[in-house]
Amino acid sequence: MRDIRVQTALISDIHGNAVALHAVLKDIESRGIERIVCLGDIIGYGPDPLECVDLVREKCTWALMGNHDFGVLYEPTNFNPTAESAAYWTREQFDAEPDEAKRAERYKYLGSLRVRVVENLAGDDVPVICVHASPRRPINEYIFPEDASDAPDKLEAIFERVERIAFVGHTHVPGVFTDEPDFYPPSEVGENRVYKFLPDEKVVVNVGSVGQPRDLDPRASYVILTPGQVEFVRVEYDIQKTADKIKAVPQLHDFLGDRLYEGK
Ligand code: ZN
Repeated sequence: MRDIRVQTALISDIHGNAVALHAVLKDIESRGIERIVCLGDIIGYGPDPLECVDLVREKCTWALMGNHDFGVLYEPTNFNPTAESAAYWTREQFDAEPDEAKRAERYKYLGSLRVRVVENLAGDDVPVICVHASPRRPINEYIFPEDASDAPDKLEAIFERVERIAFVGHTHVPGVFTDEPDFYPPSEVGENRVYKFLPDEKVVVNVGSVGQPRDLDPRASYVILTPGQVEFVRVEYDIQKTADKIKAVPQLHDFLGDRLYEGK
């Protein structure tokens, strides 16, 4: 039986999708998991940035800074026009908070997010590195599944920054990179979407996205880490509710709502 005391749920890339976040938090709670950490991009793209920041602040032990959190708080770097427009709209929502103390608190929280946390998350003596993007460039570097075949040198350089296990988000595509290098989507990691860590390998685990999955499965994604293994979980949520809210905001491109139905 699982020891629930040492289970950690890792969530990432919520992107202002509060409907998806509520569904994931409910799923985590129903499993008796009390420890939740967030790998960043709490906001950006989605219609409920304030609610998502408040929820993450309340429910997560800690959260990391993603490129979209950075973009809203400081400046959008290398954002396409759709992402940039969403970032400016998101910032306006933070600024429009009438309660001055609340407004300051939220900005303070965003500003306090770390870019990298190393912890004994797996419950054994193995330090686990958590970043939003990559262990080499924590805020902005994408590690794509195809890099395993197309860019082995890039993966080698990234794995040099990993002692044993790293957790990332950013691409919104869940799965496990091994230092072969290889990439395994959740459907190929093992029975019941559980990947068992081997003692002699390094892995980078992408936890997928809560609020904007891009692996053609529209359900919200997160993972549960237990000593020795990681389980990939998907949760259904009311996509239309979020998509409709996106479409009601002119500064949020309709595409941001449409893509949710397809998970891409
Ligand atoms: Zn993201």
